[in-house]
Amino acid sequence: MSMRSLQGVIRAIPASDGAGVKLMRSLGQNQMARLDPFLMLDCFSSEEASDYIAGFPAHPHRGFETVTYMLDGHMRHEDHLGNVGELRSGGAQWMTAGRGIIHSEMPQQDKGRMRGFQLWINLPAAEKMKPAGYKDIQAEQIPVVELAQGGWVKVVAGSVQGVAGPIAGISTQPLMIDVSLAIGESLTQPVPEGHNAFVYPYEGEVSIGSHILETNQAGILSPGSKVEIRASNGPARFLLLAAKPLKEPVVQYGPFVMNSREQIEQAVHDYQSGNFAS
Ligand code: MN
Repeated sequence: MSMRSLQGVIRAIPASDGAGVKLMRSLGQNQMARLDPFLMLDCFSSEEASDYIAGFPAHPHRGFETVTYMLDGHMRHEDHLGNVGELRSGGAQWMTAGRGIIHSEMPQQDKGRMRGFQLWINLPAAEKMKPAGYKDIQAEQIPVVELAQGGWVKVVAGSVQGVAGPIAGISTQPLMIDVSLAIGESLTQPVPEGHNAFVYPYEGEVSIGSHILETNQAGILSPGSKVEIRASNGPARFLLLAAKPLKEPVVQYGPFVMNSREQIEQAVHDYQSGNFAS
């Protein structure tokens, strides 16, 4: 088993999306800042309603998957297929945009902390036009693995020590885990050879080998078959994400991610002509 090390860092920068929700964007801040098949990672965190209250009114997606993971707060998802879902603290939503979905995510609170993530994972060319799908995952459906040496892991996708998360059957075989460690504790996690992987500390900082990865930095891992992440300087919470790269061309125009310019033009045409997603 070869240990992965820290190979590069994408520092999150302030950004805004939806109708003006303030967030920190690491992956996806520009077209170079991707890690196949991961297209974007946004972290939103605020106790000021003015930072989130405008929410994400109706907007389209085509060609990839969006994952919303709520740490604190309550948003309501609605889409043109008639799905309505409540995203509450500790829960997640896994949406396969496929050929197209139009949805909104709006805050259901006007005070208190709203904190969580939005992750975009690309779909293989052969699946970009498949029917849209949507899965609402409540907090109690996400298993928690208590680590023998201390700390815990919530398994959103993939598996940890044989405990599988609620998401299965995705071609890119994503691992998405939320980890909490006290000072001195560590997680050693296998990550398949050939899968791309990164770590995102959102509270505190972590050590990977001899390198420190600070809060709100996406730490890109080198190739290998496992990683050890340690809370060496204080308590830490972080996401670990990994998936199988697609190695296909990526052409993005806002919320449409396809393989060619022609497919993007088709997406825009389909959306504008009301033919987008039936
Ligand atoms: Mn969206």
